[in-house]
Amino acid sequence: MTTNTIESILQENRLFPPPSQFSQTAYIKSFEEYQQIYEKAKTDPQSFWADLAEKELHWFEKWEKVLDWQPPFAKWFVGGKINISYNCLDRHLTTWRKNKAALIWEGEPGDSRTLTYAQLHREVCQFANALKELGVHKGDRVGIYMPMIPEAAIAMLACARIGAPHTVVFGGFSSEALKDRLNDAEAKVVITADGGFRKDKTIALKEQVDLAIADQGVPSVEKVLVVQRTKEPVTMVEGRDYWWHDLQQKVSAECPAEPMDSEDMLFILYTSGTTGKPKGVVHTTGGYNLYTHITTKWIFDLKDDDVYWCTADVGWITGHSYIVYGPLSNGATTVMYEGVPRPSNPGCFWDVIEKYGVNIFYTAPTAIRAFMKAGEDIPNARNMSSLRLLGTVGEPINPEAWMWYYRVIGGEKCPIVDTWWQTETGGIMITPLPGAIPAKPGSCTRPFPGIIADVVDLDGNPVKPEEGGYLVVKHPWPGMMRTVYKNPERFRNSYWEHIYPKDGQYFYFAGDGARRDEEGYYWVMGRVDDVINTAGHRLGTMEIESALVSHPAVAEAAVVGRPDEVKGEDIYAFVTLENQYSASDQLMKELKDHVVKEIGAIARPGTIHFTDVLPKTRSGKIMRRLLRNLASGQEVAGDTSTLEDKGVLEKLRGG
Ligand code: ATP
Ligand code: MG
Repeated sequence: MTTNTIESILQENRLFPPPSQFSQTAYIKSFEEYQQIYEKAKTDPQSFWADLAEKELHWFEKWEKVLDWQPPFAKWFVGGKINISYNCLDRHLTTWRKNKAALIWEGEPGDSRTLTYAQLHREVCQFANALKELGVHKGDRVGIYMPMIPEAAIAMLACARIGAPHTVVFGGFSSEALKDRLNDAEAKVVITADGGFRKDKTIALKEQVDLAIADQGVPSVEKVLVVQRTKEPVTMVEGRDYWWHDLQQKVSAECPAEPMDSEDMLFILYTSGTTGKPKGVVHTTGGYNLYTHITTKWIFDLKDDDVYWCTADVGWITGHSYIVYGPLSNGATTVMYEGVPRPSNPGCFWDVIEKYGVNIFYTAPTAIRAFMKAGEDIPNARNMSSLRLLGTVGEPINPEAWMWYYRVIGGEKCPIVDTWWQTETGGIMITPLPGAIPAKPGSCTRPFPGIIADVVDLDGNPVKPEEGGYLVVKHPWPGMMRTVYKNPERFRNSYWEHIYPKDGQYFYFAGDGARRDEEGYYWVMGRVDDVINTAGHRLGTMEIESALVSHPAVAEAAVVGRPDEVKGEDIYAFVTLENQYSASDQLMKELKDHVVKEIGAIARPGTIHFTDVLPKTRSGKIMRRLLRNLASGQEVAGDTSTLEDKGVLEKLRGG
C-alpha cells in the first residue's frame, strides 16, 4: 500500500526555555518578538528582505527589483551591484574593527596564527592580484583543495573579490573525486597546499592534484598554486605550478573589490552525496551575502566581543556560510581549526575552547556522539565556562545526544540551536532563535523569519499536526541555490517536481521528511529515500534510531528496511555500542524490547546488527543507502565517492 505521508511514533516532551539572562541581551528577545517578525516577513517577504539588505550590507549600486521569480528560477536584488569580499573586509576597516581579530587559526600540530581585519584584507588583496596576474578573470572558475589553514579562507575571499567563482573540494577527497568536481566546474586554476595535517599524519594534497590533472585528466586546468604547509617535498612543474609565498611577494596589496552583479555566480559546491551522486549547487552573490549575514547574526546571536567557532571544514557549505562569509560579513572573530578529534588527542576541541575563550560553538551530531562514546571525563577536565551558546548541524540530533551536549558541554546554561538546512539552501532555514524560542531536544523548532516552510503530502496539502510528511519551502528566499551547474533540468527535477500542488504553485523539496507538533515545532524524521515501509506503516529512520540511542548501551544507530515477504520491509538496525558494553544475544533482545517500550510494537527491529563502525560521508553523515544494500544481501550500488572509509563496507560484510 502507498500512503501519502509518514507516520510519527516518537514522543519527546522536554522543554528548555532560553535562560532569561541570555534573552535580555539577545537580538530577538522573546517568542512574541519572533512571532511578530515572522508574521511581518510572511505577509510581505520582499519588503522584509529588502529592508535588511539595505540596512545590513554595502551595495555599490542599489537593485531595481527585489525578486524576479520565474519558477523554479529566482533572482534576488536584480540589478544591484555588490561584492561579498568588500562586505566581509573593506567595510570593517573604516571602523574600530580594523585591528580586531578576524580569523584565529589553530593548526593541528599546535602552531597558531591570528589575522586582524586589516591583515586579512591585505592578504586577500595580494592574492587577488596574484590570481589576476596568472590570467584569472571575472567568471573563471577556481578550484580550492586545501587543508584548514587561513589561506583557504583567503583564497575564497580573493576569488570573490575579483568575481571568479570558487569551487572548494574537501581536502580529504581522493584524486578521483577531485577530478570529477574540477571537470564538472571546468576550473582554470587549482589552489592547493603541499599537504595538510590530519589525525597526526600528513596528507599529500599536491600529489592528489597532480594525479587528478595528469594526462589531461582535467583539460581546463592551466595553473596550480601551492601553499607551503607541511614542507614535504612536492614536484613543481615549471610554468604550471607556483608557490603561494612567491606570488604574494611580487604583487601589490591594493585591489579594489569588483562590483559584481547581485546574481553573478559566487561559487559552486557539491552536496555531500548521502543519497546519491553529488550535485553541483550554484550560489550567487547578493542574496547569499544577505542570507548568511542575517542568519549568522540572529541565530548565533553574534556580538562584537564574541569568539565564535564552527568546527566544519571549509569544504562543506557549513564552512562557507558559517566559518567564512557569515561571520566575517558581521565583523566577528571566527576561529578556524585544522585538526579533528583523534586518538592521541580526543579532547582537542575542548582545548581550543579553553585556549581562546570560545563563546559560541557549532558542531555536528556525529562529533557529539563520538564525544559521548569517549566519555565525559575528557571535556570535564577543561574549563569551558566561556561558552554561552551551542549549535548543531548536519543530521538530526537524537534527543539523548542533545541532552548530553546540553549538560556536559553547555553546563546546563547554554541554549542549543539545532539548525536544519542544506547545501542547496545556502544558510540555516529552521532553527531556534536562542533568546526567543524554547528548545525541545531533537526538534529544529521553527522556521527563520522569511522562510515559509510547511509539511505537506504529495499533493502539497499541509498534513495535520503530529503527522509526518514532506518538508517543503513555499516561497523563494535570498540564500536559495539558483541552479545545478550547467544542468537546469537536474535542478528542476531534483527539487521542484516531487510535490505537485494542485493550484500550480512551486514548492521546494530536497528530500527530508518531517512532522510538526501541536505547537508548530518541526521534527525532521530523516530522508524520505530512507523511509521504511513495514506492515503498512511508513516510518522515518530518525525516531527508531533515537529510541535505540536512548538505551545506555547504544552509541550510534542506523536503521534501514530489508525486503520481507510478509511485511513489505522489516526493520534492520545497525548499532554501535558504548565502550563498556559488548554484543550479546541478551543485549539484542533487550534493545528490541527497548524500542517497543519507547515507541511501540510496529517499530520492533527484526534484526540488530552490532558493528564497530557505520559508513559515513566525509562530512560525517550516515549513508543508509549502503546499509540498505548490505542488509538485503545485495551488492553495494550507487556512488560511493564520498564514503569516508571504504574499509567499513568490508567490516560490515564480515561482521
Ligand atoms: P546529498 O544531497 O548529496 O544526498 P546531503 O543531503 O547529505 O547529500 P548536505 O547538503 O550536506 O548534503 O546535507 C543536507 C541534509 O542534512 C539535509 O537534507 C538533512 O537531511 C540533513 N540535516 C542537516 N541539518 C540537519 C538538522 N539540524 N536536523 C536534521 N537533519 C539535518
Ligand atoms: Mg541533500
